[in-house]
Formats: sequence, C-alpha cells, structure tokens
Amino acid sequence: MKNPFETEERAAWRKTLRDFVAAEITPFADQWDEAGSIPWELHQKVGALGVWGFGISEKYGGLGFDDCFMRAAYHEEFAKCGAGGVPTALAGRVISIEPIERLASSEIRARVLEDIVLGRKGSSLGVTEPGGGSDVANLKTTARRDGNHFVLNGSKTFITGAMTSDYFVIPARTGGPGLTGISLFFVEADTPGFSRTEISRKMGWWCSDQATLYFDDCRVPAENMMGEENKGFIAIMQNFNLERVALIAGMLGMMKVCLSASIDWAQTRETFGKKLIKHQVIRHKIADMSAKTDAVEAYLNQICWQVNEGPMPVAEICKAKFFTSKALEFCASEAMQIFGGAGYLRGNPVERIYREVKVMAIGGGSEEIMRDLAVRQMGL
Ligand SMILES: Cc1cc2nc3c(=O)[nH]c(=O)nc-3n(C[C@H](O)[C@H](O)[C@H](O)COP(=O)(O)OP(=O)(O)OC[C@H]3O[C@@H](n4cnc5c(N)ncnc54)[C@H](O)[C@@H]3O)c2cc1C
Repeated sequence: MKNPFETEERAAWRKTLRDFVAAEITPFADQWDEAGSIPWELHQKVGALGVWGFGISEKYGGLGFDDCFMRAAYHEEFAKCGAGGVPTALAGRVISIEPIERLASSEIRARVLEDIVLGRKGSSLGVTEPGGGSDVANLKTTARRDGNHFVLNGSKTFITGAMTSDYFVIPARTGGPGLTGISLFFVEADTPGFSRTEISRKMGWWCSDQATLYFDDCRVPAENMMGEENKGFIAIMQNFNLERVALIAGMLGMMKVCLSASIDWAQTRETFGKKLIKHQVIRHKIADMSAKTDAVEAYLNQICWQVNEGPMPVAEICKAKFFTSKALEFCASEAMQIFGGAGYLRGNPVERIYREVKVMAIGGGSEEIMRDLAVRQMGL
C-alpha cells in the first residue's frame, strides 16, 4: 500500500534493514529458534545499524534524532524474518533505553548507554511480578531507604533479555499503596542480593530469553533512583507507548509474512485439478488477510505521524494494539488453514507465527487492558 508519509530517507532506511534481515537473519532464524539462542555478535551488528539510537544523543552512541516511521520500519522489517524470538532477543533492550536516557544520573548514562545502544551490553525493563503484570499500580517489590542506599526486596518475572542483560530498570515501591508510591531504579546484574533464573518451555519466542528476577536485600546506591521519588508509575506508562508502537509494527511484519507465504503456497499447491488460488474460498481468505494488513498499515502510519507531531496518541496506540493482535490472530489462523497439513510442521514460519500470536495479545499490555485504557482515554 502506498504510504503518504514516505520520504527518500525513510525508504532508504527500510531498504537497508530489509537487506540486512534477508542476508544476516532470515537464513538462520529457524536454526537459532530451535537452538534456543542467537549469537551475541548479532547484537553488535544490529547495534551498528543505529536501530537502538532513536531519540538518543550522539554522545551516547545514538542517532541524535527521532522518527517514529523509522522506528516502526525497524520492528516491521525484523519481524519479517519469521521467527519472533530473534527480534525479541535483540530488542529486549529497547524498552529500557529510553528511561535510562531520560531519567538515570549523568554518571550512569555516560557509563552504560553507549554499550547498550551499540549492542555490546544488554538491558531489560522488569515491571511484571509473579503476583501480576496488568495491575502495575499495585506492584509489590519494595525499595527501603537505608542511608545512602535503597534496599530492594521482591521479584519480577517474564523479563525479556534478563539472562543476558547487565543492566535493569526496576520499578519498586518507595511510598504508600497505589500508583503514587512507585519509583524506578537502575540495578546492575552483579549487585549482591540480585539473582535470576531462566524461564524455559515457552510456547514460542524460543531463541529469546525470559527470566524471573529476585531481589533479596539488594542494595543499590541512592543515586540509582531514576527520576523523582514516587513518580515512577507515570514514567512506566509513558514508556509503554513506544513499546506498543513497536509491537504493532512487529505484528504488521508477521501479518505480511502470513499473507505472502499463503499467496506463494496457494499459487503452487493444486487440489481438485486446479491451483488453490483458483478456488474462490481461498481467494476470499487472501482478500480478507490483505484488507486487514492494509488497515493495520494505514493505522500505524497515522499513529507514527501523530507521535512525530505530538502529543502522544495514547488512545489510538491502545486501540491499534488490540486491533492488530486480533488481525494477526486472524491472518495466522487463515494462513495455517491455507497450508493445510504442511502448516502444522515445525520450520514453517506460519506455524511459528501461529504460536507467537498470543504473546503479542498479552505482552506490553493485554487486549483487555488496552480496551480498558482506550475507553478511559476517551474520557469514559
Ligand atoms: C514472552 C513474554 C515476555 C515478556 N517480557 C516482559 C518484559 O520484558 N518486561 C515486563 O515487565 N514484562 C514482560 N512480560 C509480561 C507481560 O507484560 C505480562 O504477561 C502482561 O502484562 C500480563 O500480565 P500477567 O501475565 O501477570 O497477567 P494478569 O495481569 O494476571 O492478567 C491475566 C489475564 O486477566 C486479564 N485481566 C487482568 N485485569 C483485568 C481487568 N481489570 N479486566 C479484564 N481483564 C483483566 C488480562 O488481560 C489477562 O488476560 C512478558 C510476558 C511474556 C509472556
């Protein structure tokens, strides 16, 4: 579909990413996913492209500018490798970079940001707790002031990239109950009292690591508080917006894989004396998948434009997140149906995407929470 916001620079950026993914990722994605990890060198190769530098000053290895269309192109093109675990393993850091850049002390920024942005080190954001992820305002991990330190106690779970990350952004309770008692902390993996265990046997995203984190009298210097005391909730909520745009763009890439793989298969496979694509029922499935993909693409473009222009279109992002995960669910299911038995076999990207739909419908704000938030943003 034609993008009214396309520029030469954005088209060139997308082509660079597409060529990189085709040469460096897609041929190996299945093998890495089955093996359960990606090579660490890939982080550095991808970091060198600049994909993690949007909105980050050049002195910290960033690009020195931001553009939501270019951010979205990155997430869409990487998702097209057909194995969501690969872009997730790489981009787990994305949701922690912005809070570090905006809220960490200048000493921390100077020491760690360039390594993260250029892919030499990993970082993670740990919001979700074993007791719940949707109800962020009621998180239970505590941070108690003790002289020049804060002492953290509690646990986080499902944290992406956490087995390989050196740095963590952790919200913890410093005040009373609810959203006004939460602060953010910068925690390093080698801090005494910090430990982690890997979460295994997942439905999908096999080559990205998720972990449970434990804070057991974990002492961090008071300067590691990020931003103002008890103002962490709003920072987390703001951070969710671009995470959700990234997830929408990634889902668009997955929908395009479902559509193009289905078309290729339907043009090759024959039943009842003719190609699948000549059967009207299959043609209608392709039409429906294509229409939903166009709708998501147009929605995403509009959102990117609004993000660039400001203010942040929070309601539209929430609506687009659940709209897109539903559209992806449809496309993945129809693609599986078009492939028939061949879609049920491991190694087929459609099979993998079908397994990865649910994490997109739950992670970064579930469909239920997105609907709730959207309606609240509508003033209702
Ligand atoms: C692979 C993977 C990677 C992840 N990576 C990260 C990460 O890097 N960092 C991080 O912090 N978290 C991460 N998460 C956690 C994710 O964000 C949470 O799973 C998500 O926010 C939902 O929280 P929960 O699983 O605790 O579900 P719950 O909050 O327990 O909710 C369970 C179900 O109830 C529904 N529900 C809850 N409240 C309501 C309500 N008021 N009305 C209607 N329905 C409701 C939810 O929508 C959901 O369907 C990851 C999760 C997965 C699976």
